[in-house]
Amino acid sequence: MELLKARERPELLTVLELLNKRMTLPYLEKQHLTIMSKGFDGEVLLDSLMERSISTTIIVINDLSLILGSTPFQIDSILLTSDALYLYEVKNYQGNFTNQNSHFLTASGQDIDNPVNQLNRTAMLLSKVLKKWNVNLPIKSFVVFIHPSFILYEAKNSDPFIFPSQIEYHFTTMSRQSGTLTDRIYSIAQELIKECQQELPYQRQFPSYSFEELKKGLLCSRCGSFDLVVTTKKGDCRACGTSTPINELFLSQVEAFKILFSDKLITSKKMYEWCGEMLTKRRIAALLNATYEKTSYAKSTHYR
Ligand SMILES: [Zn+2]
Repeated sequence: MELLKARERPELLTVLELLNKRMTLPYLEKQHLTIMSKGFDGEVLLDSLMERSISTTIIVINDLSLILGSTPFQIDSILLTSDALYLYEVKNYQGNFTNQNSHFLTASGQDIDNPVNQLNRTAMLLSKVLKKWNVNLPIKSFVVFIHPSFILYEAKNSDPFIFPSQIEYHFTTMSRQSGTLTDRIYSIAQELIKECQQELPYQRQFPSYSFEELKKGLLCSRCGSFDLVVTTKKGDCRACGTSTPINELFLSQVEAFKILFSDKLITSKKMYEWCGEMLTKRRIAALLNATYEKTSYAKSTHYR
């Protein structure tokens, strides 16, 4: 398989995860974090299954954000074989669901939109994009249910669903059937990547937060607990028992700070505060000196 565009962890997901450890996120943001995190895990799992099952030259483009006119849409994965374009919408639903055509019913009686609706919309928009380019390639679209515990009652044979136990077979069969890729297929792939948007207009904005309101301290690298016994060499987590070298604990928090506060300077004073005064200023300066490039501005030292 030829991976022309790899999946990247959404920046919003990283930021929400970091914030979640250091503040109480508003309900909607917290919910958004759970959904995003689960969705991303599902997509990453699909990537690994594809990699394992596809043995011939098939082009893979992951995580594509496109705009047609003023309508933005997102595609989890596109595969290009010699004779078709495959479009995948990944769902990481867990447990039992019942198919009621326009919607799914969860075991607890909750209604959710049938993902086919979203899939059809995406396929329709993508086909319009291809038509604009005079590309006549059949689009085969599927919803992939990735979680092994997912069960859908009353699914029909004609539904464009791929269930957990069918995923590998789906890709190995495709792999066997695809012929040599023409230059035309490669140029369509390049065109799609070129059209990919960095950010879609509807994408959720970051929550507001400030340095002052975030909880300060070093965090366990495994479970995220602040409950650490810190010595000069390491930090031992009281919650999960993990022992992590102190420089690792410290540097991961400097990186977190850089992501959360890209506009702020990294100084040893700031890092002393950020790490909850759990390390001496001297130690912090030494660790920063050893890892980052030192620059001076208006008599103060900062790092990048
Ligand atoms: Zn821990």
